[in-house]
Amino acid sequence: MLDVLKVRIYPNPQQKLALVRNLGCARFVYNYYLNKTNNQYLQTGKGMKYCQMAKDLTQLKKHSDYEWLTESTAATLQQSLKNLEVAFKNFFEKRAKFPKFKSKHKKQSIRYPESCSIRNNGLKIPKIGIVKAKLSKEIKVIGKIKSVTVSKTSTGKYFASILFETDNLTVNKEPKISGIDLGLSNLVTVFDGEKSYKVDPIKPTRKYAKGLKRRQQKLSRRVKGSRNRKKAIKQVAKVHEKITNTRQDFLHKLSRKLVDENQIIVAEDLCVKGLARTKLAKSIHDAGFGMLLNFLGYKLEREGGKLVQVDRFYPSTKTCYCCGFKNDLIDLSVRDWICPSCQTHHDRDENAAKNLRAEGLRLLSTNTAGQTEFQACGETVRLVNTCIKKLASMNQESPVTLR
Ligand SMILES: [Zn+2]
Repeated sequence: MLDVLKVRIYPNPQQKLALVRNLGCARFVYNYYLNKTNNQYLQTGKGMKYCQMAKDLTQLKKHSDYEWLTESTAATLQQSLKNLEVAFKNFFEKRAKFPKFKSKHKKQSIRYPESCSIRNNGLKIPKIGIVKAKLSKEIKVIGKIKSVTVSKTSTGKYFASILFETDNLTVNKEPKISGIDLGLSNLVTVFDGEKSYKVDPIKPTRKYAKGLKRRQQKLSRRVKGSRNRKKAIKQVAKVHEKITNTRQDFLHKLSRKLVDENQIIVAEDLCVKGLARTKLAKSIHDAGFGMLLNFLGYKLEREGGKLVQVDRFYPSTKTCYCCGFKNDLIDLSVRDWICPSCQTHHDRDENAAKNLRAEGLRLLSTNTAGQTEFQACGETVRLVNTCIKKLASMNQESPVTLR
């Protein structure tokens, strides 16, 4: 089984220079062949395949004008071409937009498909040497390293995503199923069949709003093209980064906790994009529903569990969990209510989580041929798992990044 560990690395000035050069070469190769394949397409109606580009690159490196390309690890440049081929494939299969030229002011990365290792509390990278890294205890369980992707953020931080083989992730757990209700006042309300609990949301956008506004104003006063303007741009980017990191960190921890506790999680299939267009956009974005579902989906999958998503038109909030009465008087402002039919007092979110769990179990037990079958609670059940991929592609977060 393969897993990924993302660590921050601290290259010394010399290593930084070498990495920046290698990033530059990889970017150049990507852009050069993007341009070349575009031109070839215009002339012949056919783009370039990876093999063709790789052969061409070998010749290009022999040319005196492009000799500097040989300073970089050859494998990282080939990887650049592979990325380009994938970008085209994604475009033709309608998963992505047409490949764009890479800019050096955005996040950049290079992939080392071989020859990386953990040495003396650092990461050994070909032609760079041993780079100081923030290695946790987890690193000790690392098996064979398959590849390392080094990235540089727009704010100048370096990270390494280490892809490695492992066999200690398959933990046998009692299958436990929880329903989770997503909301703005309580980010998640979890019901595991016996008890329920709530998790409060964090609001990083609001928390950093003042600082962001101040920096944006400062930026608007700077003269275009000036050095101070560049500085101000970086400062604004830093606040955005802080907001994103705070949110991601929190959601990684929360999803980890939920995945540790459960094997199957039932959640609403929220149309996050649709919601983000409403008045509540900022709060929805801040809560990170889409990102949370994405994290839950891939973390569960990796550990043999599943995320079950219930159709968003299922009235989980309005239905009484005890008697099934549908109360249409409930809107967003109602936090708790008494069922007119059976007089049960309901906490709004708790009732929804209970309903979601029950609906998930119902979906799971409706067995249909041709669907993934899964053994849970002694029954062969079907899993409804349609929305994860969609959500995964909506998020920038790569589904293999592990925290
Ligand atoms: Zn009732």
